[in-house]
Amino acid sequence: MQIHPFSAIDYQCDSAPESIAIIDDNNAYTFATLRRNAWQAVNGFKALGLSSEDRISLVCKNRYEVLVLLTAALLGGPVIVPINRRLSQSELIWIIGDAKSQCLIMDVETAATLGDINLSQHFILKDKGNTKDLAKHEHCFSDWLEQQSSVPAAISFAADRGYLQVYTSGTSGFPKGVVLTQGNCVSQLVAVTLTLDVSILAGESMYQALPLFHVGGIFVSLMCLSRGATLQLRSEFNPETTRQLLSSGQVEHAALVPAMIQACTTLESASDTHYPKLKSIFYGASPISESALRAAYRHFGCNFVQIYGMTETHSVISILGARDHRAIFSSEDSPLIGSAGRPIIGTAIKLTDIDGNTVTKGGAGEICVQSDLVMKEYWNNPSGTQEAIQNDFLLTGDVGRIGDSGHLFVVDRLKDIIVSGGENISSLEIESVLMQHPAIADVAVIGSPDEKWGEIVVAVIVANSAVDTSEIGDFSRKYLSGFKLPKKILFTDTIPRNAGGKILKKQLRKMYAEPSLG
Ligand code: ATP
Ligand code: MG
Repeated sequence: MQIHPFSAIDYQCDSAPESIAIIDDNNAYTFATLRRNAWQAVNGFKALGLSSEDRISLVCKNRYEVLVLLTAALLGGPVIVPINRRLSQSELIWIIGDAKSQCLIMDVETAATLGDINLSQHFILKDKGNTKDLAKHEHCFSDWLEQQSSVPAAISFAADRGYLQVYTSGTSGFPKGVVLTQGNCVSQLVAVTLTLDVSILAGESMYQALPLFHVGGIFVSLMCLSRGATLQLRSEFNPETTRQLLSSGQVEHAALVPAMIQACTTLESASDTHYPKLKSIFYGASPISESALRAAYRHFGCNFVQIYGMTETHSVISILGARDHRAIFSSEDSPLIGSAGRPIIGTAIKLTDIDGNTVTKGGAGEICVQSDLVMKEYWNNPSGTQEAIQNDFLLTGDVGRIGDSGHLFVVDRLKDIIVSGGENISSLEIESVLMQHPAIADVAVIGSPDEKWGEIVVAVIVANSAVDTSEIGDFSRKYLSGFKLPKKILFTDTIPRNAGGKILKKQLRKMYAEPSLG
């Protein structure tokens, strides 16, 4: 019998229907309520004439209903297109149009900024019975949901049936609509559960403030519910309230991005905090510097699990597990420092050069992934899909290296590699070195066009105490070979990042990468 991606949540609903599945900013919801609401959504959308091929755009903060809609999609409801609510009005309209959405579901704040969009169905996420200010064609989602039948249908599985269409972060270009399937989801849940060396148990809780319009947040949430644990879902990340919750003894696990970890560990109020029940922190989406990781371990004293992944693989490609982290924390010069772990069970990777040939052992090349996790397609973009998936391998656009133990090291994004004097330089490596300097709070390294060298290395730095460029130059010389040294050091107040904590290098290049005459 085929495992369905909803099977595990279904199992938890039967085992402990009254245990709490989700606590969001406002309310707590049991597993029984989640399942009933998911079936009501499936039946309701069917009654509206929407099929499992249709698209529903969803623009809102993290809240319970997002999980209702995602689980409904897994059960055969329309495909959910969760969109970053911080995008500008024109970007939102572009994605809603690109997805060919038949229906739009949004929160009150989004409805106010989005203005009038002419789709056949509009739902507003509001409290039950609160129909004040609704336009004629708008419905209150909660009221509508309560009126639908909750009778479950037979659960059917089709590996290539899309349930989720997520737009990439657009870090390196224009966002692409990635179609993810029931098959991707179940493969990921099974493979990650088998690979993880920490356990999330029924009855435990996981803190989750990662946005539910990226696969990372979606996958962590589905995994938590599939394990029968309570999802402590927050609409906004706030370092102080996060510190309070994680130290309160109410949560055993947390999913954070490196920028959030750093925001927690550098809080003034955090110095004497203890985390008695915290068992593990899952982090990923962008690299973490060695100094930030060690500081996080000293601060939280729990297990750490790093995830490397991307939208096109329904999230996780590789995991650096708790045991590997213990090896790093117990040695000054562990060979695993900087690693993104080993590919999860059932996933193969190879590294290729510019001509598509596999690179020799120990060399760097583009990370290519072969797995059931790989997306079905880029929506409405056959040439993009063909470029991305070649001979059954997904070309990630990331450059990596594989160590002797089979561990993957993400060197950089192909587009962020700096080519200076014919040498390939990883911007991440330089960032990681500079982050070790005590006066540097944050840093981004980019290439800037240069007549003599092709590109030069530019470091954009946020300092937390007085430091000058010559001191940073001396420090860099201790750890970096000559051709990698920043030729230009600039200071700023903040490094621009997106909602997932990724540095917006395209934006930085526009701001700081001016052609120089060498
Ligand atoms: P776009 O494809 O539109 O440029 P994006 O690649 O930022 O946007 P995502 O799919 O959200 O969109 O991000 C995946 C990328 O994030 C990976 O390809 C990789 O570059 C980076 N990444 C994810 N996890 C890690 C990690 N643990 N270490 C280093 N980089 C990571
Ligand atoms: Mg990408």
